[in-house]
Amino acid sequence: MRTVRRDGTAPPDLGTELVGIPAGADLELDLRLEAVMEGVLVTGQVRGPLAGQCVRCLEDLESEIEVDLQELFVYPERSEQDDDDELREIVDEYIDLEPALRDAVVLALPFQPVCRPDCPGLCPQCGQRLADEPGHRHEEQDPRWEALRVLAHQGELAQQGDEGGPDGVAEDEKES
Ligand SMILES: [Zn+2]
Ligand SMILES: [Zn+2]
Repeated sequence: MRTVRRDGTAPPDLGTELVGIPAGADLELDLRLEAVMEGVLVTGQVRGPLAGQCVRCLEDLESEIEVDLQELFVYPERSEQDDDDELREIVDEYIDLEPALRDAVVLALPFQPVCRPDCPGLCPQCGQRLADEPGHRHEEQDPRWEALRVLAHQGELAQQGDEGGPDGVAEDEKES
């Protein structure tokens, strides 16, 4: 077994549209290479910076990510026997970690990245980032005022109804 500790730079497209490890960022690789029957088993961790955008408030976010990697690289003659296209090959005694790393990173990424777990997002009326202005609200949109307005409106309707036919409908019902 061989232990490999090295730094590298992140290849492009290490992530999704929303969040990922920026291309060219420093990566820290901590890997163990183990000779097995079929080829070489690579296990370990990769650490790097994470950059993206909060899905709620669209603010840029930065953090770090550590990804567990476990991948079997097989000798070419082995993969020919096996029709499995998913197998990663050892080519000319080299293994190409990049596709395996990309898969592992994408799996480890937050599905809905947020700048902080309780990010309140944006004001639906004006787009203000609510985390910057905790008390932010629009008077007209306050649900309590809205409820009052509805009540007042209902009161008006009821009054109109009373005035409209005090002797009409009510009298008919009594007689029948
Ligand atoms: Zn946010
Ligand atoms: Zn607003």
